[in-house]
Amino acid sequence: MSLLGRAKCLANHHEPDRHRVHQTPFGMSGHCRHCGAEIVRYGFHDWRRGSFENAEAPQ
Ligand SMILES: [Zn+2]
Repeated sequence: MSLLGRAKCLANHHEPDRHRVHQTPFGMSGHCRHCGAEIVRYGFHDWRRGSFENAEAPQ
């Protein structure tokens, strides 16, 4: 966990842990490599805190 990473995290600009990223029906989801927060992919190199869990309808 670097200071630079934390600064980005505080600005809600996260970087995914490549080993913990997974595809969902709604897009890419994963965890931040710096702060461990649940994050979702909004665009190229644009990961923000959030989750698709609430959007997934139970089958
Ligand atoms: Zn983060």
